[in-house]
Amino acid sequence: MVRKTIEISNHELMKRINRAKVLNAIRLNLSLSRSDIARLVGLDKKSITNFVSEIIAEGLVEEVGRKMVAKGRPLTLLDFSHDGPLVAGLDISAECVSGVLLDFRGEIYSSQSVPLGENAAAAVIAKAVKNVFASLEEVAKKRLYGTGLSVQGVIDLEQGLVIESINLPGLRGFNFRESFEKISDRKMYFEESSRAKALAEKWFGAGRQHDDFVCIDLGVGIGAGLVSDRRLYRGAGEYAGEIGHVVIERAGRECRCGNRGCLEAYLSERVLLEKIGGAATGARSLAEIGEVDSGARKVLEQAGSDLGEGLAVLVNVMNPTTIILNGNLMRFEDIVMPKVWEGLKRNSLAACLEGTEVIASTLPQAAALGAAAVVLSEVFELEGYYYI
Ligand SMILES: [Zn+2]
Repeated sequence: MVRKTIEISNHELMKRINRAKVLNAIRLNLSLSRSDIARLVGLDKKSITNFVSEIIAEGLVEEVGRKMVAKGRPLTLLDFSHDGPLVAGLDISAECVSGVLLDFRGEIYSSQSVPLGENAAAAVIAKAVKNVFASLEEVAKKRLYGTGLSVQGVIDLEQGLVIESINLPGLRGFNFRESFEKISDRKMYFEESSRAKALAEKWFGAGRQHDDFVCIDLGVGIGAGLVSDRRLYRGAGEYAGEIGHVVIERAGRECRCGNRGCLEAYLSERVLLEKIGGAATGARSLAEIGEVDSGARKVLEQAGSDLGEGLAVLVNVMNPTTIILNGNLMRFEDIVMPKVWEGLKRNSLAACLEGTEVIASTLPQAAALGAAAVVLSEVFELEGYYYI
């Protein structure tokens, strides 16, 4: 009896893996015939025909044309339906609520952003989320397949509950699943912002090339998304990646977490903006800083050095292939990056650092893209594993 259960479960598992492989073959290639898919996936044509019939019936895929071949009948080509599903990704950062609408290939259909005031209340943030979602839903209409939401802080992903958010304190205890159920009957997925950025790199950015990498989120909060063997590392309580609260100076600068000397206390975009004197120029983020004078240059160089020293902890522990730096600070890559390397070399073991590359991300709205990738993951992966 037990054995039968295992057999059934294995059969079901194989079916799901093969279905994910078929969908990934279509996602990663333009217009394939059933024979092309069979060859790419390594399954017999009959099984492919069954999978294809299933996903055509679901409205995910359609027949888009024919390919003439030297021998035999023309081959029917398949692709995602032109009016097929779209996925929405929303992100709540300390400065704004942003959202993107993507198709199954990751093409952006629409993007939105609503600014937030400092220390915005939960009701204000929830309203901004509702407005961004409503404008994306207006574009997607019935094509909306699912929505992902990423939030900075410690999140109960199942419940959609914000347990703690140092940079969005108004959200402490707020339940986004309950709030979202009032505006949509679609399933919502949740992710923490730094991890969402790592997912965006994995699906759409520099991470596509790497099985193991670390994405550092350089915003008002500082966090890391750790990807090992193409899978997000979450930790025992799903709180992995809090590199912003690694202490770089004992009894140093006060951090919003209550401790002293944390990396975030030196590198938070808010702190850097204040040091540069951004408020005087009216800039609300490092993205809005214009000319960099000698004083600002010194602040940015110190930030690079602090970042490098903090990242050395990760390098020594994880020995990652690639570190991807994502955030407005990387607008000043030419100033910051050499100092990051100096800090890394000072604090990490040479053997651990050898073979590690550090690159600046080129993805805008990465956290929102990552939130959308959580939904894509439900379709194209199994429990975060990617099958091709
Ligand atoms: Zn801290």
